[in-house]
Formats: sequence, structure tokens, C-alpha cells
Amino acid sequence: MTRLLLATRNAGKLRELRSLLEGERLELVGLGEFPHFGEVEETGKSFEENAALKATQAARDLDLWALGEDSGLEVDALGGRPGIHSARYAGEHGDDAANNAKLIEELRGVENRSARYVCSMVLASPGGRVIATTRGVCEGRISNTPSGVQGFGYDPYFWPEPAQCSMASLEPQSKDLISHRGQALRAMISLIRMHLGSESAVGSPEEPTVR
Ligand code: IMP
Repeated sequence: MTRLLLATRNAGKLRELRSLLEGERLELVGLGEFPHFGEVEETGKSFEENAALKATQAARDLDLWALGEDSGLEVDALGGRPGIHSARYAGEHGDDAANNAKLIEELRGVENRSARYVCSMVLASPGGRVIATTRGVCEGRISNTPSGVQGFGYDPYFWPEPAQCSMASLEPQSKDLISHRGQALRAMISLIRMHLGSESAVGSPEEPTVR
């Protein structure tokens, strides 16, 4: 079975990616198994560039197929912020409570609450080449009060458009059906099958880039 590295240390993302890839003929490994692999600097100017940095650096350094993901929240009234800075909006990386507090403070008294979650996903081959890129978007709005205990990040405040509740109020399977990450990964699965399904595809320098 081919190994696929899920190139993230975010526990919430890992949980969702593992569940979405359940049943695939893949041996899924997380970055937790490679403590010597350091942090990837997110110097890109877009979700796609950062996802590619995460996937290609991990694939090259660990000599594995790797799936990189970058995602975040774009709020229209804030000109698209926090965007690619979603994880460290309030300063410290991954401090969900502080990020949410800053978001609600910035939106105090603001009528336009429209927002979206965006996810870019990149599959890289063991040499560190980008093989495929997909994107998922989930439209919604930001509420003033938190609700729900599922999910992570901004989920208690984000009400996805098709649902009458916050993302954090949805069961994980329901979130996967509509989420930005679910959409990006479903688009990626056929490409993963195509490239990792046969061992002959592994590391082939002639592989086309699919966009
Ligand atoms: P990244 O690890 O640099 O891609 O940062 C992603 C950040 O975006 C997370 O730390 C969250 O703040 C936010 N985010 C991305 N996806 C979700 C989601 O599904 N729910 C809630 N917040 C999310």
C-alpha cells in the first residue's frame, strides 16, 4: 500500500482528512511520526502557494507522497482578512479563542457578516514536485455568539450557508459534506487514486501537473 503523508500538525485538520480518506487503499501517516521535520515557513501570498510549500517541502525532505493543505476564513467586511493569516490572526499560532475574540471585536456593529472558508490542497510526489492542486470554498456568515462544540477554529461563529446552525453544531460527517476541506479533498481523491494507485507512478519525473 502506498504511504501518503498528511503534511499538517493541526489536530482538527488531521482528524477531518483521515476521516475523508477512510476506505482508500493508502497508508496514511501524519507529521507527528516525523518529529525531526521542522515547521514549514508559510511565506506564500495565497492559500495555494502555502499549501504547495507545505506539500513539496515535506515530500522532498521525507521522500514520501505528501498532501499539503492551507485554509482559512475570508470576511468581506474586513477586506478578506484574516485570510492566509487565519491561524495567527491574534498573534499566537493556533490560539482559536484569541482569534475568535479578535474577529468578533472587529465585527462589532458591522452589518455585513458574509464570509467564506477557503481551502487549497496540493499533492506532491516524493521528489517534491507539485502533481495536483484543488480548491474548495464554503460560503457563510459570522454570528455574534458562539454555538456548538464540534470542529475547531472559527467554527462556533461560522454559519455555513446551507445550514441553519453554526459549523461547530454539525456532526463531523455533515461538516465534511459541505466544508471547504471536504470539497477540496473530494476533488483530489480521483487524482490521488490516479497517481498513487499504481506503484509505477511513484516518483515518475514525466508525471503531468494537473490543475
Ligand atoms: P493553516 O494551518 O495555516 O492552514 O491555518 C488554518 C487556520 O484557518 C486554522 O488555524 C483556523 O483558524 C482556520 N480554519 C481553517 N479551516 C477551518 C475550519 O474548518 N474550521 C474553522 N477554522 C478553520
